[in-house]
Amino acid sequence: MTEPLDKYLDETERCIRCGLCQKVCPIYAEMGSEPFVARGKVRLIRELIKGNVELSPRLKEILALCLDCGACVANCPPSVHTDKLVLEARAKITAEHGLPLPLAGALHGFLPNNSAQALVTKMAYFYQHSGFQKLLRGTGLLKALPLDLDKKEGLMPEFAPRTFRSMLGELPLKKDGKIRVAYFLSCMTNMVKPELGQAVIKVLENHGCEVVIPAGVQCCGTPHLAYGDTKVAAQLAENNARLLLETGADYIISDCATCGAALKKYDKLVPGLEGFADKVRDIAEFLVNVVNLRAGEKPVDGVVTYHEPCHLGRGQGVTAAPREILKAIPGLTFAEMEDADRCCGGAGTFNVMHYDLSMKILDRKLDSIRKVNPQMVATGCPACTMQLEHGLSRREMPISVVHPVELLARTY
Ligand code: SF4
Ligand code: SF4
Repeated sequence: MTEPLDKYLDETERCIRCGLCQKVCPIYAEMGSEPFVARGKVRLIRELIKGNVELSPRLKEILALCLDCGACVANCPPSVHTDKLVLEARAKITAEHGLPLPLAGALHGFLPNNSAQALVTKMAYFYQHSGFQKLLRGTGLLKALPLDLDKKEGLMPEFAPRTFRSMLGELPLKKDGKIRVAYFLSCMTNMVKPELGQAVIKVLENHGCEVVIPAGVQCCGTPHLAYGDTKVAAQLAENNARLLLETGADYIISDCATCGAALKKYDKLVPGLEGFADKVRDIAEFLVNVVNLRAGEKPVDGVVTYHEPCHLGRGQGVTAAPREILKAIPGLTFAEMEDADRCCGGAGTFNVMHYDLSMKILDRKLDSIRKVNPQMVATGCPACTMQLEHGLSRREMPISVVHPVELLARTY
C-alpha cells in the first residue's frame, strides 16, 4: 500500500467496467486502446495501490495522457472520479520522484512570481514585435530545434506589451457600488489578455459593482495540481484566499474557467477555508444569477458560437449563463455547435507536452466550428482561447476567439 493514494482504493473499486467512458474520452478516441480510457486508468491505479504494478515509465506515460476534462465522470453510472484519481496518482509520482528541472522552474520560479511574469511578458512581446520571431521563423532555424519546438513555438500566444497587473495603479476603478467584488486576475489575463481584464471591470461596474483587485494574488495553483505538486498548490491557495478575503468583498469573481474551478476547491487544499467557495463565482454565473444581466444598446454584429470549457461546464456546472450573455447581446446571432462541451485538447500545458495528440483532439473541435461557420467563437477560458486561436490559424480559418464578457463590454 502507498500513502496517500491508498485511501482511494474504494473509489477505484466502484468502477463496474461498463465501458461507457470509451464513448466520451477524447484521449481514447485518438489512442483507441484500453489503458488510455478511464476504465483502464482506474484499473491500473487500483493495481498500483494494491502493489501489483510498478510505477514504471509506461505507467507514468499513461497517467500523463489525461486532460482532466471530466467527461468520463459525467458519463459514468457510478460517477467514479477518474480525474481525481489520476491527479492523486500524479501527486504520488511527484512526491516520490520530484519534478523534471525545467518543469520545476516553470512551476516554482515563474508562475507564482508576479515579477517573473512581468519580465517574461516584456521579453515575449519584444521577441514577437521586434522582427526576431519573423526572422527566426523565416530562416527555418526553428526546425533544427529538438522536441518539435518549431511546432510548439506556434502555440505561443501574442503577449501584451506589459502585464495587466502593472497597470493596476493607473486604472480608474470606481470607488462605490452596491456590491463589492474581488476580481481574481488569472495569469493569462495578466500576461496575454489585458483587454479581457478591462472588459471584466467595465461590465462589473456597469452592473453597479465596486471592483477590487488585490495586488499580491498569485497563480491559482492548477498547473501545480496537474503535475502533482500539491504542496505548492496549497501554499498558493492559502495566500490567494487570505488576500481575497482581506478585501472584504461580497463575491470573488474569475474570468477564467480553470482558475474559478480551482478557487472553488481551495477548501480541499487548505484547512479552515470552509465556506470560501460560497463566495466564488465565474463572471458569467455572477452576471446572470447574482446581478440582473443587462446588455448595453450598441449592437455587435455577426454570428457567434460557444466552446464550453471543461472546467466551466463540467467543472463548475456553469452551462447556461455564458450562452444567456451571448443571446442578450444586440445584433449578435448565437449558433450552438455540435459537441460544444468536448475538450479542445489544450488542458493547460497538455498541448505543449503532447502536441500532436492535442492537435488531433483540437481538429474535432475545429470541424464542429466549421459546420456553424461563425465569425466568432466565444469561450470562458483563456487557455481554451489560446488553443482555439492556434488551431484556427493553422487551418487558416478567419474566426476570432473572444470571452463572452468582451462582447458584452462592447455593447455599453
Ligand atoms: S464509465 Fe465509469 S464505471 Fe463504467 S467503465 Fe468507465 S470508469 Fe468504470
Ligand atoms: S478526464 Fe477526460 S481525458 Fe481523462 S480519462 Fe476522463 S475523459 Fe479521458
